[in-house]
Amino acid sequence: MKIKRMSATFLVAAAIAGTVLPLSIAAQTGQSSPVAASRANVEKVIAEAYEKYKGETRGKNADYIPYLAHVDSKLFGIAVVTTDGKVITMGDVDYSFSIQSISKVFTLALAMESLGPDEVFKKIGSEPTGRAFNSPVAVVDMPTHSANPLVNAGAIATASLISGKDKDEKWAKILDFYSRAAGEKLVVIDEVYKSEAASNEGNKALSYLLAKYDRIYADPFESVDNYTKQCSVGVNALQLARMGATLANNGINPKTGEVVIKSEDVPHILSAMMMAGLYDGSGGWAWHVGLPAKSGVGGGILAVVPGKGAIVVFAPPLDEAGNSVKAQEVIEYVANKLNYNLYSPLSVGWK
Ligand code: GLU
Repeated sequence: MKIKRMSATFLVAAAIAGTVLPLSIAAQTGQSSPVAASRANVEKVIAEAYEKYKGETRGKNADYIPYLAHVDSKLFGIAVVTTDGKVITMGDVDYSFSIQSISKVFTLALAMESLGPDEVFKKIGSEPTGRAFNSPVAVVDMPTHSANPLVNAGAIATASLISGKDKDEKWAKILDFYSRAAGEKLVVIDEVYKSEAASNEGNKALSYLLAKYDRIYADPFESVDNYTKQCSVGVNALQLARMGATLANNGINPKTGEVVIKSEDVPHILSAMMMAGLYDGSGGWAWHVGLPAKSGVGGGILAVVPGKGAIVVFAPPLDEAGNSVKAQEVIEYVANKLNYNLYSPLSVGWK
């Protein structure tokens, strides 16, 4: 089938019907992405947000992982990558921080690659816990025990779903998948891994609790170890924004053009992010911002604007729920100014 001969109308209809071709949305519709179309405006709003919140001092670095307590809490970077590959950055965007919990999104995507969304849903679930991200009480209380792929218990269970002949092969698969989503080779920050591996008794306890309920699908401690490694992967704000833009672009990396995530998996991943991406701050986030997002205790938040792009803010001090204070403020500001809230008809251009 010759893509060039298809009318724009057909391509839009095909996209809506879900039969999306392996091209950027811009190429499918013949239009620039809505973010790229107003690049000057996006730049202006990002600069405004940076100025407005750079003096914010609330929050505190995570310290239950010793390495994170020593990261410079003044670091502050913003990166936007659009579905047609445009890049807008501000501040400390070259600093490599640990991806932490944001990795959970991409291990979920990888698990779905081979098992499909129904099987993953059955094995993990997708219910918010209303409790802290590392809560053992949630494992006991939630009917599915693993709760959802974005809290620690569900994420460890999701890591246990990745197939391979041994732990190292499974790990290689995970790292390769993240790198393909970022469009460049990512590596583990060894110091973070060591620091976290030496202090992850809580996660080990969760893995054994999951085993009690038959909700972990490989050796519990090996699964925790691969999960710990995935949390220790280093990303800068730009690399992470590109990973998010891959989701926004229907699973196709806007830099490399590679189909990394199946398009049919994308809505499931984004729904999990909306449901539990900011832990027990997720309801407030949906209320105020209305974008699927995932935070990590390393200080990053990735928010996805489907079809348009992704925004990442990195600033280490966290609130009580474990979410970066500045990152929440900046993304809320940008989403409001640019009408990104998915629940608002304005987000599709309604004026
Ligand atoms: N590696 C962290 C943990 O397991 C991830 C938590 C997070 O980023 O929220 O506790």
